[in-house]
Amino acid sequence: MTEKLFHTEPQTLVFSAKIIHLERRGDNGAVVLDRTAFYPESGGQPADRGTLGAKTVLDVQYEGEKIVHLIDGPVKVGSTVECKVDAARREDHSTHHSAQHLITAVFLRHGDYRTMAFHLSSEVATIDLTGDITSELLDEVESEVNGEVRAGKPLEVRTVTRAGFDAMDLRKKDLPDDVKEVRLVEIEGVDVAHCGGTHVNSTSEIGFVVFARTERVKSLTRLHFLAGERARKYVSELKSSIEDAAAVLSAGWRELPNRAKEILEDLKNIRKMRKAAEKEVIDRMVREFAASSEPFVEIRTDDIEPAHLAALARRLGKQGKIAVVSSGMGLIAIATPEGHSLDAGSVVAAVKKDFPVKGGGRGDFAQIAEVSKEMMPAVRRRIVEMFREAE
Ligand SMILES: [Zn+2]
Repeated sequence: MTEKLFHTEPQTLVFSAKIIHLERRGDNGAVVLDRTAFYPESGGQPADRGTLGAKTVLDVQYEGEKIVHLIDGPVKVGSTVECKVDAARREDHSTHHSAQHLITAVFLRHGDYRTMAFHLSSEVATIDLTGDITSELLDEVESEVNGEVRAGKPLEVRTVTRAGFDAMDLRKKDLPDDVKEVRLVEIEGVDVAHCGGTHVNSTSEIGFVVFARTERVKSLTRLHFLAGERARKYVSELKSSIEDAAAVLSAGWRELPNRAKEILEDLKNIRKMRKAAEKEVIDRMVREFAASSEPFVEIRTDDIEPAHLAALARRLGKQGKIAVVSSGMGLIAIATPEGHSLDAGSVVAAVKKDFPVKGGGRGDFAQIAEVSKEMMPAVRRRIVEMFREAE
């Protein structure tokens, strides 16, 4: 069996090992070593990466009792290789994993907020918690967690017998029956839990912890958190986004929410006014065209809202006109008087055959959409032609 250096000497990231088994898997090799510092994916913690001789370690997995290193090419069985674990990735995992122990323990101080799942990847770190979690509680727990980080509490690993473990009063008791020796991770005065992952030596190495957001997942609350360098990057990105938004809105960052609300309110009023103005323009157009004896009306506008465009065409159709109303936004609304020999729906169907546009409708009203600027004159010409021919 492989000696688990990631447990016995977790600080070791560079080591030499003998290849005791090799299997080809497509273009890759699956390697078993006599000893390894590569942590295999388990307990919510992703696998380590790094190099094995000249090869890249793509993945590390438990396969039964075996620890299998997937590498990008074959190696020789029996040879000794120099191995190197990707230190930054390991540190990121150990930091988040240790932070998870801390967060889980601190939540339990506040009530029945149990951790039901932990997920860690290079993008996200989450904990699924029971209970209703208010923003006040989040703030309190985040503050206490960071207090424990600053306190620099040691994390210690020890092994106890199964009987010893069963007799202990711990937050987490889920273990298969065949586990005879149990690895416990203790944060002094804060938490004891069985765990096979990698950890920091002191809570101070976590740096600091940020709770980014929560979301509801079935009956649980999923907490997204960041620790260490990831937390610093997150805060830095957040800061620059907020500064950019504040500069655009000419406001201090604390005033941003109110400023955004004001702007939205203004926008709503402007839209209302514009709608009223457009309605007036349309009313006038309908009156003027209805008074003329010309049965065919073609209108080109640049900025009427799509809904108004359609309404204008429909109203003209009801007044006995053939109406073709196009807008700079790539839309054409067509209306025909009831009983006209060529109806709007047939015109749109014909245009769709000749041009790569979208559209639909039938009878006395139909619309064409996604007409490019370049295509617009030709499409309009085709429509006018069709109505002229039908006269
Ligand atoms: Zn752990």
